[in-house]
Amino acid sequence: MSADQTEPLPAELERPESRPGVPDAFERLWTPHRMVYISGENKPPSSDADDCPFCNIPSSDDEEGLIVHRGVLAYAVLNLYPYSPGHLLICPYRHVADYTELTTEEVAEVGSLTQRAMTVLRAASAPHGFNLGINQGAVAGAGIAAHLHQHVVPRWSGDSNFLPVIGQTKALPQLLGQTWQIVKHEWDGSA
Ligand SMILES: [Zn+2]
Repeated sequence: MSADQTEPLPAELERPESRPGVPDAFERLWTPHRMVYISGENKPPSSDADDCPFCNIPSSDDEEGLIVHRGVLAYAVLNLYPYSPGHLLICPYRHVADYTELTTEEVAEVGSLTQRAMTVLRAASAPHGFNLGINQGAVAGAGIAAHLHQHVVPRWSGDSNFLPVIGQTKALPQLLGQTWQIVKHEWDGSA
């Protein structure tokens, strides 16, 4: 086994100082992390809630966790591995894998936060369209299959198609921390 295959990296990737977005790291914007993501090395070591990033993120402060809104049953967070700038995830707090396992109230709040996310992103960055979706199961593309999350992906004319982007690296024009500030400000300010 070569040296770069010996250590799984999930804990490293979840630490703020190791994520893309630190101001001096423009030259490593996204791509190395995305490559690790694609290779599967940042997958949680188990499907347990203790190892689940979406269960652990809410215990971070908003900026550290890139959280833009905390609802009653669900929260909105910037995706650490965005397909496009402003890519948000709407996550129920409960560690639930399948959409059919959500309560009626959770379905309603995930839906309302998805609507709100679209409104906020339109105000912040005027995307031309969106992809909304939940990948159910690893075979369907879910990176963290054990905890469902609704993707809200802003799209612009001329950007890459959704499916090809999933499998490719993509440089983004904004750092994650800056994106968080813009989206959080818009979400809080235009409520
Ligand atoms: Zn979870």
